[in-house]
Amino acid sequence: MNRKQRQSGQGSVDRNSVCEFLARTLNLAAVNDHSCNGLQVQGAARVRRIGLAVDACLETFRRASERSCGMLIVHHGIIWGGLTTITGPVYTQVRYLIDHDLNLFAAHLPLDLHPTLGNNAQLARLLGLKGIRPFGLYKGVAIGCEGTARPGTSRDGLVDTLCRRLDTACTVLPFGEEAVRRIAVVSGGGAGELAEAVGKGIDCFITGEPSHENYHAALEAKINVIYAGHYHTEKAGVAAIGKLLEKKFGIETMFLDVPTAI
Ligand SMILES: [Zn+2]
Repeated sequence: MNRKQRQSGQGSVDRNSVCEFLARTLNLAAVNDHSCNGLQVQGAARVRRIGLAVDACLETFRRASERSCGMLIVHHGIIWGGLTTITGPVYTQVRYLIDHDLNLFAAHLPLDLHPTLGNNAQLARLLGLKGIRPFGLYKGVAIGCEGTARPGTSRDGLVDTLCRRLDTACTVLPFGEEAVRRIAVVSGGGAGELAEAVGKGIDCFITGEPSHENYHAALEAKINVIYAGHYHTEKAGVAAIGKLLEKKFGIETMFLDVPTAI
């Protein structure tokens, strides 16, 4: 709560102001995405607390509602490629949100690629990469990034750092040199970018979700690949959004941790 809100005793923020601020900050309109980015389901006009989560699902909706969050900001929303039908599990989700007056806001690719708040920028910072450049082209837009590791960085050291700092378990294809210098990261389901990593002479490619077909491709190209989990490589972006909203609006935020084991 900021000073102005404390004086007025409100302690709440206008939902539309938050949505407009996020749309501007994350440049939502500029990114071609199959996710419908922005406010997906409308809830209360004013919110006192905002929940942040990786996935839109009933479990995160329940946790947000139980903790009196009037708004939930997620990386993976519920509307992909336009609205089709509101039936079955989608109906249950939408009904829950409306019944509980809970706003659902999604930011997918814009939150992967943002140069400071993004999942990949956050991963690069966590690993101490320098000389960051765009990496991982998807529909002409770079989602990930690459950079140079600190001198003395090893593959096992990277695995250890990722496991500890992301609270994850890594799957490793240790087919390159143990000493690594050039590292590329693509959060989530970025396995398809292995060929780009090989082509660019990357020593260690880090993404979230494992891919069976990458095994022999990585072995034959003699490259290290670390899969650090789709969920766990996409926690930092929404967490950074939470910190930013606390600073900007003086509102309380909380990360709702609902891991998927993938
Ligand atoms: Zn994802």
